[in-house]
Amino acid sequence: MSNDFTLTFLGTSSGGGPNDTRSCSSLALEMNENGELWLVDCAEGTLRQFSLQPERDPRKRLSVNSITKLFITHLHFDHVMGIITVLAKVLRGGFGDPIPPRTIPVREPRIELYGPAGLRTFVRSILKMTGTELTERYAVHELLTPSDIPTTCSADEMHFGELPGRDIVCNANSIWSSFESDGDIQVDAGPLAHRVSCLGYVFREVNEVGRKVVILGDTCNPSAMTAIARNASLLVHEATDAHIPFAVDRSFRGDKKSERSIEERTIAKGHSTPGMAGAFAKSIRARRLVLNHFSGKFPAPVYKNDRRKLVMAEIERQASQAWGHGKAVAAYDFMQVVVPAPSSSRTSSEFTGGSTSNLRSPRRKSFRY
Ligand SMILES: [Zn+2]
Ligand SMILES: [Zn+2]
Repeated sequence: MSNDFTLTFLGTSSGGGPNDTRSCSSLALEMNENGELWLVDCAEGTLRQFSLQPERDPRKRLSVNSITKLFITHLHFDHVMGIITVLAKVLRGGFGDPIPPRTIPVREPRIELYGPAGLRTFVRSILKMTGTELTERYAVHELLTPSDIPTTCSADEMHFGELPGRDIVCNANSIWSSFESDGDIQVDAGPLAHRVSCLGYVFREVNEVGRKVVILGDTCNPSAMTAIARNASLLVHEATDAHIPFAVDRSFRGDKKSERSIEERTIAKGHSTPGMAGAFAKSIRARRLVLNHFSGKFPAPVYKNDRRKLVMAEIERQASQAWGHGKAVAAYDFMQVVVPAPSSSRTSSEFTGGSTSNLRSPRRKSFRY
């Protein structure tokens, strides 16, 4: 029997953030029935976002201690600077006397990380430089291209809390196919055009239900992932910058720069506009589309008649128009997206809740999309 898949956006800002309404990129996935939590990216402040969760049924609150896997799209700071604090929390870290490696019981890693070449060195270096000791263990599995140089996992190089990770080289189509599986869920990854090596992840069910959740890192061109992303139940695509017409919001002085010139500038920085996100959703026949990773120019609306709602609605409109299959939704921090199981009382077209008006209220309420 399948359960609902739930995605919680813990951070929806690009590297221009964090700001007063958005934290940087982090997304929590609940996909299996044993309560494990998987993160896609882990920006600065991710751990704090767990404690700032809106008021909801305590049984539905995300627990940082449920994290078992981190999938990192790329090593830009707005996607990775929260890894160490999350590891220190879950692996019961501290600044005590160094623990001789043999006193740590050798067992399976409590947390596994996946990401591009360099992630292993990044985590290991900061743990060592900050003198962080860990009570439990982690492993970093790197998704490598044939030209990447694997990072050593020799005993004298590893952190005391580290277990050797796998070096997983992509296939001839540049895809990391089924590099991870957990029950009915298999995970694929593919390359994205960005300014550094960047990955998109596909979480797919291998039973007859066949739901597929596609979460892309930063990109100006995800076409290399088209084959593995096709028929996604849900696509999460960045929309870092957008042309906002003068009629929608004068503060953007939208008439001064053309839509085309903004798109060119966005692509030059390795990013996408809402129209590009919609076009990719169309090309893979995605059934739902959520936009995230917004420039600091696009803070989330925070109160009822906030004019920023008009700007986000315009961003959604542009993506929806290019997609042509429904209404794209712009994410905000703590928004939840449910991909329901067929037996669920929810239907795939149901959008529940959806208000950012209580982001600043002391007693936050739950909202779902
Ligand atoms: Zn980014
Ligand atoms: Zn980036």
